[in-house]
Amino acid sequence: MKDVIKLLTSNNVPFKTNMPATLISSFRGGGVTSVIAYPESVDALSECLSAAVETGSPYMPLGNGTNVLVRDGGFKGIMISLVGFRSISIQGDLLVCGAGTGLRNVAEAAEAAGLSGLEELTGIPGTLGGATRMNAGAFGRELADLIDGVTVFDVATRSVRKFARSEIPFSYRSCGGAFDAAIVTGVALRLRPGTAIKEKSDFYRDKRRSLQPAAPSLGSVFLKPSDNMSAGYYIEKSGLKGARVGGAEISEKHANFIVNRGGGTASDYLALMSLAQTVVDGKYGIKLKPEIDIVGEE
Ligand SMILES: Cc1cc2nc3c(=O)[nH]c(=O)nc-3n(C[C@H](O)[C@H](O)[C@H](O)COP(=O)(O)OP(=O)(O)OC[C@H]3O[C@@H](n4cnc5c(N)ncnc54)[C@H](O)[C@@H]3O)c2cc1C
Repeated sequence: MKDVIKLLTSNNVPFKTNMPATLISSFRGGGVTSVIAYPESVDALSECLSAAVETGSPYMPLGNGTNVLVRDGGFKGIMISLVGFRSISIQGDLLVCGAGTGLRNVAEAAEAAGLSGLEELTGIPGTLGGATRMNAGAFGRELADLIDGVTVFDVATRSVRKFARSEIPFSYRSCGGAFDAAIVTGVALRLRPGTAIKEKSDFYRDKRRSLQPAAPSLGSVFLKPSDNMSAGYYIEKSGLKGARVGGAEISEKHANFIVNRGGGTASDYLALMSLAQTVVDGKYGIKLKPEIDIVGEE
């Protein structure tokens, strides 16, 4: 990592070294990331990618880390944080935002402008870039329903390009690989004028609070196995609520959440995932697939 540090330093890109997952992942447990860089411009982003490519280091973009589990062996590469790409501009019913803008801030700006569409997503703790990559959704609404276009930094050509909504094969919690070789830098959302936006947002935020645990987590662990059944249903029916490994626990409140009860490691989290997968497969023949992104070394 010395060469990476040298390159980032010589190009004035802010970075930190040896960052524990307690500060990166909202599970608040896991391994150490060698370098996390904080570019605030496309040029700086380009320098981060050059540093990674020239030194053969693995890299990944990072938003708020609310869907990322870093294995206990750590991520021996560069995480490129997009939180410096924060902006919101309202052009009629179009909201044009930097990828590092928190979904919460985007929803608040929409509400203040009398624009409707994001109410169901209020309370998802990620950035707009992370939410676009994951096609985040809740209560029947997906971000893909609102996206007008996405601006990315293309890793191969080292240039900025725009995707129209029709070019992105979004599906349930997926962008269809559209951003596998690209980092989202900006997202335009097409909303519509509405009424009672605050009331609707409050309703969904309260509903979320009543259904989800407050302890540190990564949100839903597994994807829905079918349209009409949730992973949580099968995990709960398998009697696994409250199951514990080390400091990690399958939430008593929501069976598709694994929470950190204090000192939980990534291995604890993964052991509970594996338990849920084995038991649900054995009882129901259903293979649960992770919704979260698992990175780093064992
Ligand atoms: C309490 C809680 C509740 C949650 N509720 C929901 C919910 O209701 N619905 C839902 O869908 N999710 C939910 N989540 C999961 C998570 O918040 C979302 O997936 C969110 O969109 C992730 O955003 P992030 O910025 O934290 O992304 P990160 O976790 O930082 O990254 C997630 C993935 O996206 C990639 N990525 C991040 N930024 C970019 C970028 N700019 N360009 C390209 N790739 C990028 C990362 O490399 C990683 O692969 C919840 C999580 C928690 C902790």
